[in-house]
Amino acid sequence: MVKWLALGGIAAGLLLAGSGVCIRQLSDVPSYWLVTSSVAAFAWLFLLNRLHVFSKPQRLLFLLGTVVGLNLLAQSTGGEQSPLIFSLFLLMGTAAWEGEAKYGYLVAILFSGLEAFYLRKEDAPQGLTLYLRWAAYLVSAAFLARVVKTRREKEQLNSRLESLKNDADQLASEAEPSSFNVPKDRLLMEEGRLSARVGTVMELEEVLACQLALFQKSLSLNTAVFFLLTSVEEKKVLRLRASSSFSKDIASDITLLPGETLIGLAAKEGRRVLLNDIAPESAKALPYYLKPNLVGSFLAQPILLKPNASEEVTGEEKELVGVLVLDHGKPDYFQERELALAEQFSEMLGDTIQNTRILHFSRTKTRNLHALYEVSNSFSTLLDLDQILKTALNTAREISPCNSAYVALPEGDGRRLRVRAWWGHVKAEQPTYLEDELASWISENKRPIRYTRGQKEKSLISFSKREGMLGSTQSFLMVPLLAGEDILGVIRLNSQKSDAYQAYDQDVLTTLANQTAMALKNTINVLQIQEMAIRDGLTGAFNHRYFQERLAEEIVKAERYNKDLSLALLDVDHFKKFNDSYGHQEGDKVLRVVSEVIQGTVRKVDTVARYGGEEFAVILPESDGNAGKELAERIRKNVESYLFENDGKTPYRVTVSIGVASYPFDSREQKGLIQSADQALYEAKKAGRNRVNRFSSGGGPQKSQ
Ligand code: GH3
Ligand code: MG
Ligand code: MG
Repeated sequence: MVKWLALGGIAAGLLLAGSGVCIRQLSDVPSYWLVTSSVAAFAWLFLLNRLHVFSKPQRLLFLLGTVVGLNLLAQSTGGEQSPLIFSLFLLMGTAAWEGEAKYGYLVAILFSGLEAFYLRKEDAPQGLTLYLRWAAYLVSAAFLARVVKTRREKEQLNSRLESLKNDADQLASEAEPSSFNVPKDRLLMEEGRLSARVGTVMELEEVLACQLALFQKSLSLNTAVFFLLTSVEEKKVLRLRASSSFSKDIASDITLLPGETLIGLAAKEGRRVLLNDIAPESAKALPYYLKPNLVGSFLAQPILLKPNASEEVTGEEKELVGVLVLDHGKPDYFQERELALAEQFSEMLGDTIQNTRILHFSRTKTRNLHALYEVSNSFSTLLDLDQILKTALNTAREISPCNSAYVALPEGDGRRLRVRAWWGHVKAEQPTYLEDELASWISENKRPIRYTRGQKEKSLISFSKREGMLGSTQSFLMVPLLAGEDILGVIRLNSQKSDAYQAYDQDVLTTLANQTAMALKNTINVLQIQEMAIRDGLTGAFNHRYFQERLAEEIVKAERYNKDLSLALLDVDHFKKFNDSYGHQEGDKVLRVVSEVIQGTVRKVDTVARYGGEEFAVILPESDGNAGKELAERIRKNVESYLFENDGKTPYRVTVSIGVASYPFDSREQKGLIQSADQALYEAKKAGRNRVNRFSSGGGPQKSQ
């Protein structure tokens, strides 16, 4: 470049000197001749730029030559008054526009020098002002052209950044088996990830561009470009991702469909397309040139990845990742040696892409490991079932892409699922019998289902037949929450892309599922222990301690909200005698049954507790004495009507007596309330048993009907 500039400077200097000498001799040349030649000079310059036959320094040299020549013509046709004078400003603009700013300024300064030289010779009185005016004109012409060009470049850069962002998602999700899809409330994280992804894409582009430049220069190719196979809205396209060329009219971002143009053809058929004598029409249609270029030979070489040992690639199937395109100005350029080199080079590009994938994959892995580590940390302190499910769901979404996701726990016999935490449009997909079928499959097989529409898997054949019911879901990953042999639930990710989940996703999600299952099991155990601590072992009713706590709470509530509250105390009649005649074991059975009957009779809000040996207490919130008595009566009747089978011997029945007291009517105190109920029970016994008695302060029995 420096060499060319120096040459240009010398040539300009010579012309400059020449012009001073010639001006006087040419001054009698008719002006129409001068106009014609300057128009021709412009046309020549324009043509040079259109054709891109010469490199940038060569064009600059022509430009300089034209400037000097034009000046010569302008000076000899009247100097400042010459009609050609404005063409000089135009030239400044062209120089700035076509080249880098410094060339524009350089030309402007050179021209100013020329002016200075001319003015000194003339020894004009108005010399300095005229000269300064000229210099200012020239520099501002160059500057203006520059501003316009910079603005245009900025716009192009912005649109490129947009496309990069869009593409980053694409490449990243292809480069790694798993990418991220996070909620909007984590925008910050999302942006961080996006920038990491864009980073990876840009790294790849940089490396590719370097490799291309090296190859293009060492083979003296006119152009070398690389198209990456990527997807835009589910459609596979070839996207120009890197280029190196002697021509500067290379498109920066174009996409082609496989099959489209010679390049798409190479991609579609997975074979090289070689045209050593390309027809001018085809050369003109090369999509990566903004303006037609002189191309004699053309080669499009598909880039295929060697099958990865860890991936399940069958037979000779190689993955197409892109197309390498090379062209040369002369025909018959690509001979055996060049073709071998191109082949080798395309393999190298394939390796580069593969390495980027691995790099990105390992970055993703690290992030995923971190997510898993965090989740296991938070699980160790969580004892809330819903919280665990939510955390599991969010982590699953972080490590694998999905359009919707849920965690479901089995219900009933374990063959039905109930969604307990979800994200996306899952609500509409509350487990159907189709999903229950999957639940059955999982509980039988105890392993994940990785499914994509049209998948042929024998064991899922009946499901496959009804896959239409999947709605917009194209593929899903369903992993059991396994604790030992027990299936505690499933995590499921749905994607609207087909084949969205790979072995890697399954592995990571399984790890998460195992941790979730452990956390669930832990929590369930703790809940069970807590439950055991408040329940009576024989009857399953609450124990005495819990009854006391609960009654205290209920009294506080009744007080606060100004509500009624009733307490019923129940005692099995003649139970001592019963034990004596039927045995203690049969007595235990009676206690269990009585407990069940009571629980089957009361409302959900009522609390049934075993008060003592064969005595039960029932707390009835928001029930006054009458309501309490009514319910007690129902209990009494249900017990009375229960027929106990007796191992083939004569069946029997038992009866109970119940005393009812109520807050605030009978007492406002816990102790007083219990005493009143007990008193009422005592009265019921005294009055003949098998009856309900409501407490009355007079102490007299009130027989029920
Ligand atoms: P009453 O109609 O007056 O209540 O007569 P009763 O025989 O039921 O009188 P009491 O309340 O004095 O007797 C309680 C009996 O309940 C004593 C004991 O044998 C029996 N019992 C207490 N706890 C259990 C138990 O857990 N299992 C069995 N089988 N019997 C129990
Ligand atoms: Mg008793
Ligand atoms: Mg009794």
